[in-house]
Amino acid sequence: MNSSNSRQSIWRPYCQMKTAPSPLEIVSADGFELTTADGRKLIDGMASWWSVCHGYAHPHVVESTLEQLSRLPHVMFGGITHEPAERLAARLAAILPADLDHVFFADSGSVAVEVAMKMAVGYWRRRGQPQRQRFLSFTHAYHGDTTGAMSLCDPDRSMHADYGDAILSQHHSVLPVDDASEAACHELLARHKENIAAVFVEPLVQGAGGMRFHDAETVTRIRRLCDEHDVLMIADEIATGFGRTGTMFAVEACDVVPDIICLGKALTAGTMTMAVTVANSRVFDAFWTDRTADALMHGPTFMANPLACAAANASLDLFDREPRVEQARRMEPKLQAGLAPARELPGVVDVRSRGAIGVIQVESLADVEDLRTRFVDAGLWLRPFGDCVYVTPPLNLPDDLIDRVCSTMVEVMSSRDAGILI
Ligand SMILES: *Cc1c(COP(=O)(O)O)cnc(C)c1O
Repeated sequence: MNSSNSRQSIWRPYCQMKTAPSPLEIVSADGFELTTADGRKLIDGMASWWSVCHGYAHPHVVESTLEQLSRLPHVMFGGITHEPAERLAARLAAILPADLDHVFFADSGSVAVEVAMKMAVGYWRRRGQPQRQRFLSFTHAYHGDTTGAMSLCDPDRSMHADYGDAILSQHHSVLPVDDASEAACHELLARHKENIAAVFVEPLVQGAGGMRFHDAETVTRIRRLCDEHDVLMIADEIATGFGRTGTMFAVEACDVVPDIICLGKALTAGTMTMAVTVANSRVFDAFWTDRTADALMHGPTFMANPLACAAANASLDLFDREPRVEQARRMEPKLQAGLAPARELPGVVDVRSRGAIGVIQVESLADVEDLRTRFVDAGLWLRPFGDCVYVTPPLNLPDDLIDRVCSTMVEVMSSRDAGILI
């Protein structure tokens, strides 16, 4: 797959195609390993962008999805329903906190964020405050790549600086991690609350904006600020949902209930693309009237795809049957210990872990592509970005493989010519 022709027929994500090395061709995946076209096996330290939470080709997920494939792979959702969607919505409502009970099926995380934005603006319009059309999000936020979602990303560090006024302008604040920053956030909300529909936050872990962690208290402060100023709180748990941070949902660890929550990535155990936007009754009830015009006008073609629902139901079975969340929680000290030697390396700024997320933060990565190649040569698939070399493996990665992942990371980054620095 190295011909320049094949490289140009696909427009690839997040890279300068002209200078980037050829992508790695993967032909199959099983358990914790990817198999390359030339027969190498790589441990997947990324779980395919956080999604493959039980490892690849888990027999229960495969069987359930295949069974659904032969029965009803797809049917439109307008005017129609089906058992896999009904069951999945009921199960999600049951495991989500409080009255987060009203599940809208979206087809990707970014779309789930767009839907949350539409729900929030629509909520205020139906409550007689149609001027509330803007959002507040945080420094280092990442909420997706579609135009609405882009507007919520940190404007100074986003991948979206290219688009100028094509992107809505929103309010951005530092996270309220202490009294001073809480006061700053409070001030911003007080000044603009007449036009703010909701606050968006990635609870506990900010993902693609820099793999940064904050504590539960910060999320509690955000809920309090939202209550004080009567704006909705939207938790983007597309990355953190389904056990990743050591509880099923990050907001649980904070004892906070948002008004809307977005879930994606691991929802179908990495099998199919699907995400959900789940609203509480306060939001849902605003749309529940006798007026046709009060309906939520959104409906993706592949909404609630039955195959994706079957995969998601199978994934929830595994969360029920196996100690998956506990495995994620137990991975935190293992990653911390395994990656600790990296602290001594020149150029390393921080080593941290939370649940099944391990991060080595450096001053700067001189040559990300070269580092990736070195990891691949050492049998590990990672995709460092910005100033972070990080792992988000399947939650059930066994101990010996956790050790191997950590020691490989430290070894590769220790090699004198690894180009970590400057
Ligand atoms: C990945 C991600 C998104 C976007 O999801 P896609 O499925 O890639 O559109 C949104 N928010 C967060 C926090 C994410 O990690």
